[in-house]
Amino acid sequence: MVSLNSFDEAINEIYQSFDDLEKSERLVSFLRQQQEISRDAIRELKKQKHDLATIFEITNQLNAKSLDLSQLESFIRKMVMGQFLVSNVWILRQESFDKVELTLCAQRIKSQSETLSVHPDSELGKWLSVQQDPFWLHQPECASFEVLTHLRKAGAFLGLPLKKTDKNSNIELKGLILLSEKLTKQAFSEEELHFLKILAQMTAISLHNCQLYHCSIIDGLTRVYTRGYFDVHLAQEINRLRRYGSASVQANLRYVSLVMLDIDHFKCLNDTYGHPFGDVVLQNFAKVLRGSIRTVDCVSRYGGEEFAIIFPETNKTNTIFLADRLREAVEKQIFSDPRNGGQVKVTASFGLATYPDDAEDVRSLIRQADQALYRAKESGRNRVMTA
Ligand code: GH3
Ligand code: MG
Ligand code: MG
Repeated sequence: MVSLNSFDEAINEIYQSFDDLEKSERLVSFLRQQQEISRDAIRELKKQKHDLATIFEITNQLNAKSLDLSQLESFIRKMVMGQFLVSNVWILRQESFDKVELTLCAQRIKSQSETLSVHPDSELGKWLSVQQDPFWLHQPECASFEVLTHLRKAGAFLGLPLKKTDKNSNIELKGLILLSEKLTKQAFSEEELHFLKILAQMTAISLHNCQLYHCSIIDGLTRVYTRGYFDVHLAQEINRLRRYGSASVQANLRYVSLVMLDIDHFKCLNDTYGHPFGDVVLQNFAKVLRGSIRTVDCVSRYGGEEFAIIFPETNKTNTIFLADRLREAVEKQIFSDPRNGGQVKVTASFGLATYPDDAEDVRSLIRQADQALYRAKESGRNRVMTA
């Protein structure tokens, strides 16, 4: 046996033993072994480098997608399917902070009529919260959970709980990712399981950030955008027009219209029917607005019972038509009197202004629309007035 510590020692030995054939052969064999070990180490390092690059890329993508839950979900599904060569990936996740149940959102499971869901406080929720590693659905413990049995029958093979630890070290269950078996039927390696564990941690944080962002831009009661989002969005629309609007060949692309609207006599409605009824009216009012506009238009709660709608690429004549259609839709709504079931109707007043016809910047556009709204109130309510 050759007992040497370094290549240099081995090379020296070879030079010194040119006349001893047997010793030379042993030394060459030693060098070959060393070469093999080095090759393995290089291969391992290259793999780790590739894994790190993948994790870095995934982190970037997760951050980029973390403003939209469905985009984030779709990215994770596709990425896991491609990375691990599995035919299917299911994601159960929290819808929002106030709906903590994990539900299977985008996909449906055949022969499963009800939506699969897991409450964090259920036995399964508690079990998932304490799992430190990915788990297999054919593990004996999984058989006692009906939801997991359904998922296993649908083809789920490996489960990854998505957990986030808060500042008080409490574990919050944000979701669950499930993978089918690999297309090659090969087992998941230790490294792959480790990778999946890191992925689960990153995904849980991204889901949380996505929910936080959502809370900051969506009003909790009415589900329309917040005032903060409106301010940013309107400024962006005006800036976009300033930069590109004059170059546009299409006339409509040169306008942004703003409609401010306010529910009529809302204080009286609250006083007569109670505040909770007022809240229901606000929710329905916002629903009517959301349902009556294009996806490019932006409805926000400007404050209390006042809303603002941004209509990009819409001139004044078209905006008057749209606002009047909204006014009619609001007027048609019939609410039930919480005291006796009688009919209650609500109306709203509208003021609108168009950039650049009526205003030269964001502030003056808001002022003009607001003054038009004031005139709509002054002249009898339930009407549309323009700047
Ligand atoms: P006008 O026709 O001139 O607009 O009269 P108004 O009564 O609608 O206007 P006013 O500004 O006097 O009252 C607005 C009311 O809206 C007062 C406030 O308590 C109520 N309000 C604001 N936010 C909410 C809310 O989130 N829920 C309920 N129920 N009421 C709200
Ligand atoms: Mg009002
Ligand atoms: Mg008001």
